[in-house]
Amino acid sequence: MGFSTIAIHAGNEPDSATGAVSVPIYQTSTYAQEGLGLHKGFEYARTQNPTRLALEKNIAALEGAKYGYAFASGMSAIDAVLKLVKAGDHVICGDNTYGGTYRLFSKVLANYGIEFDFVDTSDILNVENAFKVNTKMVFVETPTNPVMTVTDLQAVSEIAHAHGARVVCDNTFMSPYLQQPMSFGVDIVVHSTTKYLNGHSDSIGGFVSLNDEEDSEWIKFVQNSIGAILSPFDSFLVLRGTKTLAVRMQAHDKNGRAVANFLAEHPNVQKVYYPGLPAHPQHELAKRQQNGFGGMVAFEMGSLEKAKKVLENVKLCTLAESLGGVESLISHPATMTHASVPTEKRDKLGITDGLVRVSVGIEDVEDIISDLDQALS
Ligand SMILES: *Cc1c(COP(=O)(O)O)cnc(C)c1O
Repeated sequence: MGFSTIAIHAGNEPDSATGAVSVPIYQTSTYAQEGLGLHKGFEYARTQNPTRLALEKNIAALEGAKYGYAFASGMSAIDAVLKLVKAGDHVICGDNTYGGTYRLFSKVLANYGIEFDFVDTSDILNVENAFKVNTKMVFVETPTNPVMTVTDLQAVSEIAHAHGARVVCDNTFMSPYLQQPMSFGVDIVVHSTTKYLNGHSDSIGGFVSLNDEEDSEWIKFVQNSIGAILSPFDSFLVLRGTKTLAVRMQAHDKNGRAVANFLAEHPNVQKVYYPGLPAHPQHELAKRQQNGFGGMVAFEMGSLEKAKKVLENVKLCTLAESLGGVESLISHPATMTHASVPTEKRDKLGITDGLVRVSVGIEDVEDIISDLDQALS
């Protein structure tokens, strides 16, 4: 079956009690049991909820995974995955992950005896050299936020598996429509459903997809033990969102390419970060690994003053953190999403004071471009 058919039908069976075509919001904390030990598979709503279960089947199917678990946020999904490693284990992580991931690893989990090394995973030699005897996991994000560096998922998977380590990919920026990490050997895929999967900027959520049965049982155990579950209402919203994921991603991709091309030719823009541009250092890899380039574009204005002018003069694009919704958002990574990353590290990554990021929405692209054009001049 094709992607859209799976998106619309996986997990979306008519309700067994009423025949409702849309999966109902089962807003309940508990379920009546017919007798001792006699129930319909639902006992308590932290453990099981039919609306969440429908979403879990849906996104797992979109990632080509056997198992899926929905969490209260992208961060709680990532935290649950890190519960697969223990004190004394070592994790290799991309040096340009989402700021919140860096914060969770370096400021929280490092206190529990888990060792982290942050390396530029776009150069496979850095990954190879970072392995230690106790390395149990490699965590990559591709393309990265906001400078859009691409990592070769197949190469990372081969090296990690040769060392007996799991590979985790944060697929938030691409969504399963534009990138299928498991087809390259990745073991676990995580998402902030807050972004493209929900797609309408009206819910916070996270997701873990995986194939290994033992790891899956542990993630399920962690989900129930810690309780950072996605609510029935949010599960409903994301399930509604994924039905249109294919058409939305096609539109984000089309608009993203047009905006990147416009910016690349604009005299006031110094540099554009977009894997779809032939000048991007991993353009060929992105073409091979992705089914498109998506809607995330970053560009360098050269100074804070110039970046500020653009950020404060846009009218259609909204100045806000986050991404992946139908509306175009514009942001300043150095002071917004990446404020928790130390300055020296930001400079090294290219997250300068002059860098501006756009989450290109699915409005009419002429309107997005003319808005950026007036703000740039
Ligand atoms: C937003 C984001 C997260 C965190 O997700 P939340 O839903 O905000 O907790 C993780 N990774 C990436 C790439 C993100 O963009």
